[in-house]
Amino acid sequence: MPRLNVVPPALIFALVVPSVIGAQGAPLPAATGLDFRPTAAGLLGGCRAAVAAARAEVAAIDASPEHARTFANTLGRAEQAGLVLTDSAASYAFLYAVSPDSAVRDASQICSQQLANFGVDVGADPHIYAAAVALAKSGTLSDAAQRKVAELYVEQGRHAGAGLDSATRVRVTALFKRLNDVQRDFAVAIAADSTTIVISADEAKGLQPQILAALKPTDGGNYIVPVSEATIGPFLSTDASSAARARYFAAYFRRGGIGNVHRVDTALALRDTLATLFGFPNWAAYQLDTHMAKEPQRVTAFLDQIDTKLAPKAAEELGNLAAMKRQSGDNTPLTASDVGYYNAMLRRTKYKVDPEVVRQYFPVDQVVAGVFGIYQDLLGVKFDEITPADAWAPGVREFAVSDARTKKPLGWIFLDLFPRPNKYEHFATFPIRPAVYAPDGTVTRPVSAIIGNWPTAAPGKPALLSHNDVITFFHEFGHLMAATLVHVPYPVLGTLRQDFVEAPSQMLENWMWQPAVLARVSRNVTTGKPLPADLIQRMIALRQLGAGYQNSLQAFLAMYDMRLHTSPVPLDTKVTWDTVMTRMLPGIKFTGDYPVASFGHIMGGYDAGYYGYLWSKAYAQDLFTRFEKDGVMSRSAGMAYRHDILEPGGSREPDALLQSFLGRPLNYDAFYRNLGITGAKGPGSSPARN
Ligand SMILES: [Zn+2]
Repeated sequence: MPRLNVVPPALIFALVVPSVIGAQGAPLPAATGLDFRPTAAGLLGGCRAAVAAARAEVAAIDASPEHARTFANTLGRAEQAGLVLTDSAASYAFLYAVSPDSAVRDASQICSQQLANFGVDVGADPHIYAAAVALAKSGTLSDAAQRKVAELYVEQGRHAGAGLDSATRVRVTALFKRLNDVQRDFAVAIAADSTTIVISADEAKGLQPQILAALKPTDGGNYIVPVSEATIGPFLSTDASSAARARYFAAYFRRGGIGNVHRVDTALALRDTLATLFGFPNWAAYQLDTHMAKEPQRVTAFLDQIDTKLAPKAAEELGNLAAMKRQSGDNTPLTASDVGYYNAMLRRTKYKVDPEVVRQYFPVDQVVAGVFGIYQDLLGVKFDEITPADAWAPGVREFAVSDARTKKPLGWIFLDLFPRPNKYEHFATFPIRPAVYAPDGTVTRPVSAIIGNWPTAAPGKPALLSHNDVITFFHEFGHLMAATLVHVPYPVLGTLRQDFVEAPSQMLENWMWQPAVLARVSRNVTTGKPLPADLIQRMIALRQLGAGYQNSLQAFLAMYDMRLHTSPVPLDTKVTWDTVMTRMLPGIKFTGDYPVASFGHIMGGYDAGYYGYLWSKAYAQDLFTRFEKDGVMSRSAGMAYRHDILEPGGSREPDALLQSFLGRPLNYDAFYRNLGITGAKGPGSSPARN
C-alpha cells in the first residue's frame, strides 16, 4: 500500500482558529491556546456552542439583502465564521484519535461530525453559493486572494449541490446520506472481518520466530493465521510454502465478503444517480471537477501511458522471480502470492540487505534529531522543544517552530510516536489548527501533530526503526512543514488539491535515499558509527527492486477505480476487475473471489481518486529535479521550495506552483527515471492544466 496521508474528517471548509495572536517576533508561549485535556462534557458543550455561533453567522449572511452583498459580508464573513469555529473546536475535533479517555474520544467523534455537518451545510448553502458566483463573475475583485476564494466557493458549491433547485437538493441530500451509510457499513464489515487460514506445522517452518510466536496453535499441531492488512506483508514475504501463501492470498481477497460486494454495487448506483443529478456524465467526472486532473480522460490517458512504459520492466521482474521459483524446485507458475516471498529472497541474497542489521543504525532519538536537523537546514526553520509538553498524553513531545533568520514564531508541532491503547492505529499527520495570516494583520498560528505507532523499545533498550519507518517519518514531517509554513490570508486557501497533497511529501522521501543524508541520520546503537557506505549503496540499489510490478499494480488499481466510476451501472465488479487486469497486468494471475470487497479506498473517500498516488508522484519527482541540480541540502533550493510551494499552498493551482519553482511546466522524465525507466518520454500532452 502506498503511503496515505490521513487527516481528520474532511470538512468542505478549512476550519481554522485565531486563538493565538502573538506580536510578531515575540517568542511563542509554551501553550498553544488549545485545550487538549477537556472533560467529555466540557468538550461537547464547547463544541455545541461554537457550532451554534458559526451557524448564526451563516444565517446572518443568508438573511442579508442580495443587492448589498460584498466579498467582506459574504465569503469573507463565512471564512471568518469558520476561523472562529475552529478557534474553539480545533482540539475537540482531533482528540478522537489520541485521547486516553474513552468518553473524550466519543465526545470528540460527535464534535467532528458536527463540524463536518456544518462544513457540508455551508458548502451547499445556496445564498453563499449565489454570492460566490456573482462575485466571481463581477470582475470587481481586485485582490487575487479574494478572487481565488470566490472561485473555490463556486467550485465547492457546485460540488455540494448549492446550485440545484430545492427539490433536487433534498433528493441529493438523502442520496448522500445513504451513500455515507453504505460506505460506513463497508468499513465496519472490514474492521469486523476475522478471516483466518490454517497452516500445518510443516508450512509454518519458514516463518520467522516472532511471527510464528504470534500465531495461535490448534490442537492438531497446526496454526491459525489471521488474514489482515497487518499480517499480509510479513506472512507473504516469509512463509516458504507456496500453497500456504496461495491460500492466504485467496482468503485476503475474500475479506468483507459478498455483503461488501453488494455494498459497492449500491454505492456505484447511488453515485451514478448523484452524478446525473449534478449534471455530470458519471461519478468520476463529478469527483474530478474539484481535483487538479479535472477530467477522467486525462487520468486514464496518464495511467495507460504509465502501464505501457512499465510493462517491459514488470515483465522482466516477474520473469526473474519465476526463474527463482523454478530453481527452488517449484515448477508451478508464478502467482501474485509469490512476489513478496521471492522479492524478500532477492533482498537477502542478491542485495545482501538484512533489515535487522539496518535497524541497528536507526535508534529513534538519533532519527528524530537527524530529521529535525535536515528540515532546519533546508527550510530555514528552528525547532525548540517545550518541556513539559502541554499535550493530550504522557510521552508526547511538543516543539515551537520559528524562522531561523528572523526568529519570528511560526507555530507548534507535536510528536506522538508510540502506541497506546485505543490510539489511532496508523502513521499520519493531523493538521489540528491551520495557519491563517488575515488581511487585518491577525495571525492564526498553526498546530499540527504526527501520530505514529513505532515499535516500543524493550525495557532498557532504545527503540529501533526500519529504513521504511525512517522514510515514513520523513514523509510525514514534510506534511507537518507544509501545515506549518503555509502563508495564506483565508482558511480555504490553505488546502491542497487531493491529487496534489501528497506530492511535497513524496518529493521529500527522496532525501532518505541519498548516501550523505542516510549517513547523517544513522548511528549504530552500539558502535555510534553511521551506516557504512557499502551498505548504503546496497540499500539504494533496492529502491527499484520490484518497482515495475508494484507501480503497474498501482496503475491497475487506479484504472479499475476509474472504470468503476465511468461505466454505466449496474456493472459486474468482478468481471470488470478481470478485464482491466488482463489488459494492464497480463504477466500474472492476481485474482480472488471478491477482490472489490476489501478495496477500502473506493469506499473511503478515494473513489475516482486512487490515481492520485501516481499522479502526485509525477509532480514529486519533477519537483525533486531542482534539488538534484542544486544539491539536496541546498538552502537556496530549500527556501525556494518553502516560498514557491509551501507558502502559497492552495492559493495557487499545483501547476502554477510547480512552474514558479522549476521555471517550466511539468515534465515526466524524472518520474520514469525514478521507476528505473531511462530514456522514456512522458505523455505527449500534459495531463494537467492550470
Ligand atoms: Zn502523506
